[in-house]
Amino acid sequence: MNEYLKQYIELQKQFRETEGNPDSVRALYSFKEELEKAGDGQAKEVLVDVYDLLDFKKDACELLCQIGNLSDKKTLRRLGILKDYAKRWGNHYAIPRPKTPEEKQKEKERLAQLGLPVFRYHPNPLETGAFEKSTDGVVCDCCGRTTHIFYTAPFFAVDDIEYLCPECIASGEAARKFDGQFQDECSLDNGVDDPEKLNELIYHTPGYSGWQQEYWRAHCRDYCAYLGHVGARELRALGVLDEVLDDTMWDDEHKEMIRESVNGGHLQCYLFRCLHCGKHLVWMDFD
Ligand SMILES: [Zn+2]
Ligand SMILES: [Zn+2]
Repeated sequence: MNEYLKQYIELQKQFRETEGNPDSVRALYSFKEELEKAGDGQAKEVLVDVYDLLDFKKDACELLCQIGNLSDKKTLRRLGILKDYAKRWGNHYAIPRPKTPEEKQKEKERLAQLGLPVFRYHPNPLETGAFEKSTDGVVCDCCGRTTHIFYTAPFFAVDDIEYLCPECIASGEAARKFDGQFQDECSLDNGVDDPEKLNELIYHTPGYSGWQQEYWRAHCRDYCAYLGHVGARELRALGVLDEVLDDTMWDDEHKEMIRESVNGGHLQCYLFRCLHCGKHLVWMDFD
């Protein structure tokens, strides 16, 4: 057995035993980079397994296509499964690499450079898909200026609004001008008694797109920060699955559903974090 394979078996064991905790995912990512650099035949063979395990299905498929023995039935069968998955989802559901505090800080600086306003209740709206980038630029329906970042999540207004820039959302101008809201005020956790906070959330904060009615979680008498779409695997990779299950919102049946949820699947979880105590909470719905 070659060294790469030995190392892979060890890392895979760690990953399975810890159900994909942050350290095990980080170790797999470092190993992936090492193998990509090595580039020899043995490294590439193991790299297919690493891609597959981390759900980089498109990369696994392409590499196996390139190096696999296509007269071998087992390889062909595996390639068939990977191709089918890759065609539908590409690398979209790859397990994200858990970020270090330094990386989180860099990300903040990058967003500031892009000129994105700070949204207290939606800190990474580009990452969550609430905003998209346009190279050519689009015209904001509210201020009429060209913007390279535009809003894609729900805006509840009578007028048909195509594009909104981040500034018009942050300033509240879009909500005021079109008499709209970014979050339904009837679809929120109770327990926040400060009207300023409600105002900030529904008129100044980009929303998110759920399968059904979007719902905003609250904790410590304030609304939580929305972090994005997740399934059980992402929750494990972030090390917060037990934390989100510790929530009076969910009964045993719900908890089982959260444990089995798959990001992008029929049962979708939406992750939030309390701005005060740091606790993670989820909302979930079905397609
Ligand atoms: Zn605008
Ligand atoms: Zn809290």
